[in-house]
Amino acid sequence: MKQQRIYFDYAATTPLDAEVLKKMMPYFKDKYGNPSSLHKFGREVSAAIDEAREKVANFLGCKPVEIIFTGSATESDNLAIRGLIKALKRKKRTGQTLHIITSSVEHKAVLETCKDLEKQGSRVTYLPVGPDGLINIDDLEAEITPETDLVSIMYANNEMGAIQPIKKIAKLIAKSNKFEEHLTYFHIDAVQAANWLDCNVKELGVDFLTLSAHKIYGPKGVGILYAKEGTPIYSLITGGDQEWNLRAGTENVAGIVGMGEAINQIKNEKLKIKNKIEELKDKLAADVLIRIPGSKINGPDNSEDRLPNVVNFSFEGIEGEALVLSLDQEGIATSTGSACTSQALTPSHVLMAMGLSDLEAHSSLRVSLGKYTTEQEVNYFLKILPGVIDRLRKISGR
Ligand code: PLP
Repeated sequence: MKQQRIYFDYAATTPLDAEVLKKMMPYFKDKYGNPSSLHKFGREVSAAIDEAREKVANFLGCKPVEIIFTGSATESDNLAIRGLIKALKRKKRTGQTLHIITSSVEHKAVLETCKDLEKQGSRVTYLPVGPDGLINIDDLEAEITPETDLVSIMYANNEMGAIQPIKKIAKLIAKSNKFEEHLTYFHIDAVQAANWLDCNVKELGVDFLTLSAHKIYGPKGVGILYAKEGTPIYSLITGGDQEWNLRAGTENVAGIVGMGEAINQIKNEKLKIKNKIEELKDKLAADVLIRIPGSKINGPDNSEDRLPNVVNFSFEGIEGEALVLSLDQEGIATSTGSACTSQALTPSHVLMAMGLSDLEAHSSLRVSLGKYTTEQEVNYFLKILPGVIDRLRKISGR
């Protein structure tokens, strides 16, 4: 009998939606014009980009001119942070140190960018998080000064699903900006949030927002940066004048069309999927805790502070990597942390920042569900997991 294959790694990437692929197909072969060309071939693809931009702008509640298509969320994070810092440096007196505040649980696309800017002379404050993975707004209040240039905090965490208090942060920044000439800008990485949470930039009160197509059933290789009109930002790639002079290079037309359609789909399906997935995830989490002694969940206790689709466990006496590989042999795809760090075999910086010991962080498993997850898949996982854990505990003599 053919073994089941179960995908529980939607936080790493999502399958491409069939409708999205259908919309993309003509732009691989028949509609191949360069969007910058003046002729009809060019104009028809340029119109397709405009249409995708409209859809994204509509989803974010902003103007199309505030949307920049990039090659990934990593690039969008870099463009927001480095692009702002570059623009401010050009504007400011030379020799002035720029100040960035971020959190210790950010994705590496933000953390490594901040570390690099630190090496280049910026001052970076890394806010701690509590055991629930959330920043404390008082910590931010204590660190923000009239001289702070940027606050970059993720909307929802990719490893354990904590949702940060974005509106409260925005209010605090607005308060601090009220009487000052010097403005503090606010960037959020909303990659993991887009499927589930309100991403209206006006409601959230943000200046920059990052999205990735491949986390929302769109293609890989397309990111979005929302940059509020009038916000200082400078291109990181020089060349042509594409994307309002902010991202040189011929556009990934099929990918952008796919992003537009993926955004449309989540807009239509959001609530329906959220309820179904949250129910399945809660069942899975509760049953694991009951069936497996020595197991615990990492992340916020309160369901309002957690993504509906991600759950992160620690299992006493288990090596997370061995567990992922054993589950893979059973046809179940999971992860130990973020997909990008899971091959590094270093304990997750996110779990360590939450105060887990080295051992606890090494014993973690991330299960992330998505719109194609079924109850049968959850039941199969619950049937297989206890045996796998038992076997691994016996091997390690615990
Ligand atoms: N930010 C977050 C929160 C993520 O989860 C990811 C991907 O794991 C990224 C950024 C990077 O996305 P991309 O693969 O589009 O560069």
